[in-house]
Amino acid sequence: MIKYLLLLIFFFTTLFAEHTLIIDNNSTIEKFKISTYEDKTSSLTIKDIRSIKKFKEVNNNISNGFTNSTFWYKLTIKNTSPQTIQRYLKLTESIMDKIDFYIYSNNKMIKYKKDGVGYFKEGQKNYLERPFIEFDLKKDETKTIYIKISSLYPMFNSFQIYDKNALNTFEREYTTIYAFLIGSLLSLALYNLMIFFYTRDISYIFYVLYSLSFISWQTSMSGIYPFDTFLNTQSYYFVGASIPLLVAFLTLFTNHILDIRTMSKKYYYVLNFIGSFYIFLAICSIFAFKPSILVMNATTTFVLPFLLYMGYKSYKNGNIIAIFYLLAQVGFLSMSTLFSLSSYGFLEYNFYSRHGIMVGSFIEMILFSLALAYRIKILEKEKFIIMQKAKDNLEINVKKRTKELEESKKKLEILANKDFLSDLLNRRPLFEISNRLISLAKRENTTISVLLFDIDKFKAINDTYGHKEGDEVIKAFSKILKKDRRNSDIVARIGGEEFVILLPSTTHKDAFIIAEEIRKEVETFQVKTKDSTICFTVSCGVSSLRKEDNNMDELIARADKRLYMAKNNGRNVVVDGDIV
Ligand code: GH3
Ligand code: MG
Ligand code: MG
Repeated sequence: MIKYLLLLIFFFTTLFAEHTLIIDNNSTIEKFKISTYEDKTSSLTIKDIRSIKKFKEVNNNISNGFTNSTFWYKLTIKNTSPQTIQRYLKLTESIMDKIDFYIYSNNKMIKYKKDGVGYFKEGQKNYLERPFIEFDLKKDETKTIYIKISSLYPMFNSFQIYDKNALNTFEREYTTIYAFLIGSLLSLALYNLMIFFYTRDISYIFYVLYSLSFISWQTSMSGIYPFDTFLNTQSYYFVGASIPLLVAFLTLFTNHILDIRTMSKKYYYVLNFIGSFYIFLAICSIFAFKPSILVMNATTTFVLPFLLYMGYKSYKNGNIIAIFYLLAQVGFLSMSTLFSLSSYGFLEYNFYSRHGIMVGSFIEMILFSLALAYRIKILEKEKFIIMQKAKDNLEINVKKRTKELEESKKKLEILANKDFLSDLLNRRPLFEISNRLISLAKRENTTISVLLFDIDKFKAINDTYGHKEGDEVIKAFSKILKKDRRNSDIVARIGGEEFVILLPSTTHKDAFIIAEEIRKEVETFQVKTKDSTICFTVSCGVSSLRKEDNNMDELIARADKRLYMAKNNGRNVVVDGDIV
């Protein structure tokens, strides 16, 4: 029983024990316990705090998230080294708004220091630096340091103890690494800004703006030269707008680099709305920082995964650029999630959760830059394909048009050579062909004959039955003329109701027989129209090639003379000689 009682007493004494941090010659102390007290009313003074015993012991890494409370920290330190030592108690983050350091020795306050952006004054040079207090300890001396922190920002930070050299080394290394990363990001932004002027592609502008808002956020959080000097507290809060701007430009960049518009108009408008909403939040954050940041924090939880989903959808849609985008985003988002979780107090603040985002963003910016470069390549390829297609189309169209032109030319030629009504050759081709055949016949000493027909009293047919019916008679007679003809015979209509048959290698006698056959057939033929049956007759003059003939005109003239004779002889007659 006594044993348990002792254990219980031991437990409570350790719980409220004044933990003392021993400092000997070590130049850096990075891991230690510190006591803390949360003042929910934010009203307690150092005197009140000193009388409070209920401090809680925690690690020197703090992740308190967004809070309205004032947090007090207490650290008792003792020098066990043989000589007097001089050290710095320092915070790793600069943005804790108001920090008050108090040093007590032998129950007396021996030092007080104000630090943090909340104490920036109008009209003086205000530097953003990591808050610190300097102290010294004689051999075996013990001092207690109280730190009071109130913060507008999510409270995440860490206490470290350095000697002068270690502190300089830390500052130099920190600044060098950040200057390198930020310098690289700035170069990438500048490079892509140049490319914008060349391509006029708005994606580049959003990339540059995204990059600049990230840089402005990081530099204002870390105090990197030359972005470490501020006019006053309010002007420092201005840079807080860079966080919603960052999300706005990332969203708009996503919309354009992934060509969401061609994938889905709906998503394109959604992303544009989100982008505009965050620009609005950025403006609000200048006037009401805390509520704007809280809204941003709540909405970003959905927006960032939504952007990832857009990348995935675009990839599924066959966009190769989405691969670069997704790789970049997965890296950056996991790092920024780590950062958010620790800054909002769900994860412990440590090196990786604090600085991973910078490395993640560095890689992200390089991948985005690659995606932009690849996009130019794709766009140029697409342009080339479009040009090629246009060229091919042009060639196809030209070929088609040429063919069409040739066809219509042929049609025109046929129209010019053929008589529309009778479907027979007209005068011009008849004379051309006949003259050639006559030359050939003369050379080869063969004969050639011509039959010249004229429909008898055709005017009367027109007058009696009508012009349309007259046309039917012309058509019917043309068919009779073409019927039973040899391939080498040429049938033509040379005038209103005058027709010619050219009969190569046909004697005068045979020609007469053919003419008679036709005349007789016509005599018995009836043209049946809608209202009437028309009978008609034809007269014909026959002529054949003579040695003295030189061309078709002479043969036709002779046939015409005989046709005239046929008409004079009472019509419906074939005349094949000059004397009847
Ligand atoms: P003839 O026996 O002396 O040859 O008497 P004809 O009436 O046939 O002689 P004429 O040459 O005086 O008349 C020919 C008529 O043919 C005159 C014209 O109106 C008609 N004609 C000419 N071409 C066409 C045509 O394409 N269609 C029709 N329906 N009539 C035509
Ligand atoms: Mg006539
Ligand atoms: Mg006639």
